[in-house]
Amino acid sequence: LSITKEDILKKAEELDVKFVRLQFVDILGTIKNVAITVDQLPTALDDGIMFDGSSIEGFTRIQESDMYLKPDYDTFTIFPWRPKEGAVARLMCDILTPDGEPFAGCPRSTLKKVMAEAKEMGFEMYAGSEPEFFLFDKDEKGEPTTITNDKGGYFDLSPVDMGENARRDIVLALEEMGFDVEASHHEVAPGQHEIDFKYAPVLRTADNIATFKFVTKAVAMEHNLHATFMPKPIFGENGSGMHVHQSLFKDGENAFYDPDDELGLSEVAYHYMGGILKHAPALAAITNPVINSYKRLVPGYEAPVYISWSGQNRSALIRVPSARGVGTRIELRNPDPAANPYLAMAVMLKAGLDGIKNKIEPGEQTIDNIYAMGESERQARAIDSLPSDILEAVNNLAEDQILRDTLGEHIFEHFVEAKMIEWDVYRTQVHDWELDQYLYL
Ligand code: GLN
Ligand code: MG
Ligand code: MG
Ligand code: MG
Repeated sequence: LSITKEDILKKAEELDVKFVRLQFVDILGTIKNVAITVDQLPTALDDGIMFDGSSIEGFTRIQESDMYLKPDYDTFTIFPWRPKEGAVARLMCDILTPDGEPFAGCPRSTLKKVMAEAKEMGFEMYAGSEPEFFLFDKDEKGEPTTITNDKGGYFDLSPVDMGENARRDIVLALEEMGFDVEASHHEVAPGQHEIDFKYAPVLRTADNIATFKFVTKAVAMEHNLHATFMPKPIFGENGSGMHVHQSLFKDGENAFYDPDDELGLSEVAYHYMGGILKHAPALAAITNPVINSYKRLVPGYEAPVYISWSGQNRSALIRVPSARGVGTRIELRNPDPAANPYLAMAVMLKAGLDGIKNKIEPGEQTIDNIYAMGESERQARAIDSLPSDILEAVNNLAEDQILRDTLGEHIFEHFVEAKMIEWDVYRTQVHDWELDQYLYL
């Protein structure tokens, strides 16, 4: 049952909404707003709102700087942490060109394109994510630190922890915004948390991740804490991942399930995994998009390093959780919360569809602990590694024509350009580690 324009206007009136933020994400996944007053809402719902895109990251082509924001009615929700009188609401938007076509630089439209391709094959993708994040203290100037006053650990209950209060308020805000929060808990590292919301059709999940990130930051700020989705803020501690559970449905049934198979998985599921594993080296550029992402993907911190799948083993890149029937799914464990959720979902789905179309086999599952194997044993079993840095990942992406086509030349080019600048700045920096290491030379 879809929400109508009238429903939204009625809700806006009931909730005393004064401002509506039209939201979209740029190529790097940063959420952007164009605020309108509630008087403009009817026009925005009918025709969208024109805005100047020329100063937005990756949108910069002067000749096409006029764009339209076209709201998705299903995403109307208020910001519960803002005043209840004169409330602030938001609508997630697609970016259209002046002639009403999806803009080539719109990540949300990119995901919709792959969803349409899946639909032609009879599939609808469902996804659920497990984003992790840190809550850090701020200093006297209000700048974020990497200090946390919390001593909690995995699933710990620590009443002294300010993070617990903040996390509770994040969950309450999300629930008020219509999220179905399934779990929220302390993670392994001090100051680290995870909030899991219920799986949903993939577009909704991508919207939810984008929303989740800014809600978390906003609510943490109310507690004078800094929430970060940086993948590896502290050396020697677990990093923050964002495992993505994924399945395909066909005619209302889970297409990954086959009760007759030894592991209860269908051909579709095996081939989907085959596609993900094949494209994994290039996928990483999108699912692990920052230099810091690769500091997380190292042995010893529950993050994947090797390209393999397993029914049980959490050291694998893909784990198959034990649920079967409607809950049959795979869990991809390398994505991190710095990823643009729309582009990440788009390339994961596309990789899976490629596996299905070309019947790509995932190979034998790895039951043994890969971390305990030596280089030669991994080689003998043909277990490859994920890229060790963003440069390698971006080079892999450049050679993966299928994923390039999925992103489209516009997004691909802007993404690579941004990453090359980032890499060059990093590469030429003199880091503290180097001073510690070499100053006595
Ligand atoms: N933080 C770990 C990672 O980087 C995951 C830990 C867990 O959820 N078991 O992926
Ligand atoms: Mg979890
Ligand atoms: Mg976790
Ligand atoms: Mg998990």
